[in-house]
Amino acid sequence: MEYTHITPRPLITVDEEACGNAILCLKCVKACLEAGPNVIGFMNSEPPPVGENAPQRLEDIPHKIIFSGMVNCNGCGKCIEACPKGALTLQMPEPQVPAARVQHADIVFCGTLRDGTKVFPRD
Ligand code: SF4
Ligand code: SF4
Repeated sequence: MEYTHITPRPLITVDEEACGNAILCLKCVKACLEAGPNVIGFMNSEPPPVGENAPQRLEDIPHKIIFSGMVNCNGCGKCIEACPKGALTLQMPEPQVPAARVQHADIVFCGTLRDGTKVFPRD
């Protein structure tokens, strides 16, 4: 029997210069929300000035895209397609084949398989 598992999760990088002020767009945020995972958010790039120079509109505060909960990213690429500026890059991880597939029934006693293989050898 052969199987693969994916680890770690997809990696998405943002070209912040190409994106500009994310609050003026947020198409990637909407795309990921509609796709289901909802792992893209946004926050102000730096603390906004206070006092007389305080911005009056949210759009006047520089924002950047942030990713949280990437463990839920499924690599669908919807955010990449939605970005009008080509600011996002998706990198999928290489599939990794585990060294051994172990089933509980195969374990005779802690750390050893029926055929004597040490799963957790202690040197
Ligand atoms: S690839 Fe899909 S799940 Fe991952 S951040 Fe983009 S839209 Fe969301
Ligand atoms: S879709 Fe692209 S340009 Fe728009 S906020 Fe997201 S990264 Fe920035």
